[in-house]
Amino acid sequence: MRTRTRNNTTREVADFLKGLEKAAVTTHTGADGDAIGSAVALVYLVRSLGAEAVFCHAEPVPNYLQWLLPNEPFAECPPDHDLLVVDTSRSDRVGVTHEGMHPIRLNLDHHEDNPLYGEFNLVDAKAAASAQIVAALYAELGVPLDKRKAEAIYTGVATDTGGFRFRNVSPEAHELVADLLRAGVIPAEVNDRINRTGTVQQLNIVGLSMANAARYGEAIVSVVDRNDYARTGATELDSKESIDRLRNVAGVEIVAHLREIEGGTKASLRSESVDVGEIARHFDGGGHRLAAGYTTLKPPHEAREDLLEILRGVVNLGEADTTGGAG
Ligand code: AMP
Ligand code: MN
Ligand code: MN
Repeated sequence: MRTRTRNNTTREVADFLKGLEKAAVTTHTGADGDAIGSAVALVYLVRSLGAEAVFCHAEPVPNYLQWLLPNEPFAECPPDHDLLVVDTSRSDRVGVTHEGMHPIRLNLDHHEDNPLYGEFNLVDAKAAASAQIVAALYAELGVPLDKRKAEAIYTGVATDTGGFRFRNVSPEAHELVADLLRAGVIPAEVNDRINRTGTVQQLNIVGLSMANAARYGEAIVSVVDRNDYARTGATELDSKESIDRLRNVAGVEIVAHLREIEGGTKASLRSESVDVGEIARHFDGGGHRLAAGYTTLKPPHEAREDLLEILRGVVNLGEADTTGGAG
């Protein structure tokens, strides 16, 4: 395998896809709507070119995204398939075992910190979602969209833009969405499947995340731990959506949600102005400038102290106002 440490053009990657015979598509661990949406859209694209394609992922796919899947996910990449990876900023976040087994032939992504780890790389940090990059390949290859394909792409764009509200939204993203609607997507249907599949446990843990939120000047930090899971019957993943609800407080530059996981803490960071990708990289994580994350081996309350230490150099933490915060 020749490793190219440069970004390829859409044309080059389109030609590469045309040469495939059997492809396995995977995405990052902790898959989100863009991860699954862009992976599924790529599976359909490769199939439309006449090749075999399957979706692979070692972790269970979240319930709210299972309706998208083109096949029961293979837990591993079949040995004779070429491995294509989408929406994954680093090769150590790939959702299947691959090191020493399967070279990553394509790395398609929109994270600005992506180090171009594939043989072919199609990384565009201006794309609102990896699904938007997959859509550009459909256009380049002249493969028409049908409802199923368009729904996968729509899911990626709609989720990664927070329902078309975040700063990554562009005229191009909206133009694409117009095409997706023409191909049959009904946004209300997709919204029903994605956002109306929750449980009361989820509602309760998100509620606790709000109750636990504490303000430190220009930062809001919320922590949920195993006691909160026990109280609500929720799992750690159930609290994931809390991060977007923490963004509504006036005068806040950074919001952080820290949730206890087996053996440590998973952190999500969001901002409208500060490079939180840089903050995440302090903890060996990463992500986008305005949406990033990391995991640490520390328990959540220690993780919060470590985070506040870093935040102190970035925003004004003022006097802690933890009146609303229990955690
Ligand atoms: P999340 O807060 O998990 O929704 O992640 C937000 C962004 O940060 C996503 O684009 C992820 O790819 C990235 N990210 C999250 N966790 C990590 C991590 N441990 N290492 C690198 N990037 C991460
Ligand atoms: Mn993602
Ligand atoms: Mn994405």
